[in-house]
Amino acid sequence: MAQILDGKAFAGKLRETITQEVDKLHKQGITPGLAVILVGEDPASEVYVRNKGKQTKEAGMNSFEHKLPAETNQEDLLSLIQQLNEDDSVHGILVQLPLPKQIDADTVLNAIAPEKDADGFHPMNVGRFSTGGTGTVPCTPLGCLMLLKDHLGDLSGSRALVLGRSNIVGKPMGNLLLNENCTVTIAHSRTKDLEEECRRADILVAAVGRPEMVKESWIKPGATVIDVGINRIDGENGKTRLVGDVDFAGASKNAGAITPVPGGIGPMTIACLLLNTLIAALRQNDLPIPEWIPVKG
Ligand code: NDP
Repeated sequence: MAQILDGKAFAGKLRETITQEVDKLHKQGITPGLAVILVGEDPASEVYVRNKGKQTKEAGMNSFEHKLPAETNQEDLLSLIQQLNEDDSVHGILVQLPLPKQIDADTVLNAIAPEKDADGFHPMNVGRFSTGGTGTVPCTPLGCLMLLKDHLGDLSGSRALVLGRSNIVGKPMGNLLLNENCTVTIAHSRTKDLEEECRRADILVAAVGRPEMVKESWIKPGATVIDVGINRIDGENGKTRLVGDVDFAGASKNAGAITPVPGGIGPMTIACLLLNTLIAALRQNDLPIPEWIPVKG
């Protein structure tokens, strides 16, 4: 049976280490600050924003929450972003997606100053990072990489398959693994013989949004499986439950190690948001990035 990669425990340790780094910054008169903007009243987004704010404060950082009504127009949102771009106490800015229909998400994300882009979605950061520079790395792929490196150490030469090619997960994940000298395949809905592609992979990262799609027989014996998917399906007694993109029970029989859902990549994503805020505060104060953080200084 596969070893379970406990993302929840790892994220807890990561938050402790981040808190220690933040303590060191306090001694230099710096408090990293993260501003989160929520437009509208989407219940899931409200929960995410609340959790982000709570964990930001627990790590010793400032959390600035901006809750705007659903009917907010784009100009007002852009002017808030401009204000935050110019505010020295704010090192990271995150706009919670999805945004209401009257607002164009790309215009809004592009208005965030690249150095304060905590999510790593700004085209400037995407470009810098994918050309091997110092761009902010999106939180979810960064969390996946940290878990992989913690478990496997050097990833060099491994055959990696990323299932999914979104800008948020699949593409940046492929780039990160390439930077780690893996041989990377990015698969998607038009990939031919997907099962065979998966079976060749030493590292399989699934980010498709299809409940339990990746089966036991798709896994190379001993492979490391990272399940990014978060899917809510019907469970017993009329309740719902969360499952990943991988059939956890089946895949665990073949894999060497596997992340569970929940308790795998989800907690790592928020911890990496704190990490990105810490990195932004260090960079904005011309301070070095500690060795243990797997991004360029
Ligand atoms: P997207 O819907 O943006 O992308 C899904 C990708 O999967 C696409 O590239 C699509 O291919 C591919 N795909 C869909 N169906 C198939 C199929 N049958 N066979 C092969 N490829 C397929 O999703 P995201 O990347 O945003 O998210 C993926 C999953 O990860 C979701 O479950 C989401 O909830 C979860 N997630 C979890 C996070 C966390 O913190 N743990 C954070 C972000 C996302 P194509 O491009 O050809 O359409």
